[in-house]
Amino acid sequence: MLGVPLPIPDNPSVAAAKRSIANDASSPHLATVAAKLRTSMITLLGDLIRIPSTSGHEKPLVDHVAAWASQQSFICDLWETPDQAIAAEPLAKLRHLPLKGRPTLVVKSPTSHQADGGILLNAHSDVVAAPQPERWQFDPFSGHIENSLMFGRGACDTKGPLVSGLWAMAIIQQAFPKGIPGGLHLELVPGEEDCVGLGTLTSVLRGHTAAASIVLEPTEGLPRCASRGGCRFTITLIGQAVHGTVKWLGKDAIALARDVLEALAAMEKTFSHHDEGLFSSYPIGRPITVDNITGQGWQGTICDQCVISGYFELLPNDELSHWKNVFQQELLRRLPCPPSEATLEFSEEYHGHRLEQVHPLCQYAQHTLADEGESLFWQGFNSGCEAGLRATRLATPTLVWGPGSLVQAHGINEYVNLHEVEQVALRVARLAIHRAYQKSGQV
Ligand SMILES: [Zn+2]
Repeated sequence: MLGVPLPIPDNPSVAAAKRSIANDASSPHLATVAAKLRTSMITLLGDLIRIPSTSGHEKPLVDHVAAWASQQSFICDLWETPDQAIAAEPLAKLRHLPLKGRPTLVVKSPTSHQADGGILLNAHSDVVAAPQPERWQFDPFSGHIENSLMFGRGACDTKGPLVSGLWAMAIIQQAFPKGIPGGLHLELVPGEEDCVGLGTLTSVLRGHTAAASIVLEPTEGLPRCASRGGCRFTITLIGQAVHGTVKWLGKDAIALARDVLEALAAMEKTFSHHDEGLFSSYPIGRPITVDNITGQGWQGTICDQCVISGYFELLPNDELSHWKNVFQQELLRRLPCPPSEATLEFSEEYHGHRLEQVHPLCQYAQHTLADEGESLFWQGFNSGCEAGLRATRLATPTLVWGPGSLVQAHGINEYVNLHEVEQVALRVARLAIHRAYQKSGQV
């Protein structure tokens, strides 16, 4: 445990709180509090981007956030989960980097350390690599700021959103020194970029529960009430190597792979039809994304074995095992070689989630936007993320919300708009206040 617990004050009465809601949830006062915190929060974001926390190397980043949180008098639970402690979990059996040296952190408000009545924000501590820094306009681990944009690996996925969450907690702490019912808490989990869901599982197994959850991912500043599920596939094609000058005597696994790529593109089209309204604005219903093709062969020789791998991403209510089966059947039907010369494996899987728009959590989000005179058009988050874990395992009502865009995530010159980081901080703080006082803390 880090941090010094403060005494728990009496909760303000709901009636008194309701009287003050008009000045608190929507008043300029909160924006003033947010603005006062601006310099320190932007400094924190720069510091976090300068820590290259690629999957497997999250610890220095997590330690930094824990130290910051303790300094702000938040209460920290910082621990490591040994792989053997979760070996029985189906998710832990999937391929992932060992958990040793990769801590999980839960940060709680000192005035309401019962996170189970509150909103638990979720962010992942890892980032993808930046393998070609020379192609970046600025050093990917510098946190360079230009025109209110902060550049760097992880700026929008997901250190900017993480700082929005911490900023929201700091706003609540300053504006409500006695706390708000339920409170706003945060879990920082390792390994989302390596094995979706596993990091959040470590926190669930530690006993951290919540009445609601907000997963901090780049959603362009707007809340999303659903996310994709999916799985990782690996197709291995077996050829027969011979010298290129007599290639007609062998079988080229790379040529087979070309046909398989075409088959996958055709399958993506076939699988695209759906009636999931929250994803109707996205042109591809169920994306199939090949992210790696590896040929194994000697130089000048046609290829002996070619491996194609990538992700098959689904809609929130799609049944994973059903769609794996459909994928397998369709691939088999289109294979350019006898089935004995190809194998298909699924090595990772994660659940999507879907929260009905009539759910109170969605309603509070709508009030929050209405405070700014904005109306909200609900959409799903067009990616997989940690949202599925708590939502499916514990039925925790969950939103995905953060500054930045999926267009920048994982790319060269990744950035986040600092105004948006602050805007989401304010919005999340307002949501927590709406939830705490408008329905006596019930979600
Ligand atoms: Zn992410």
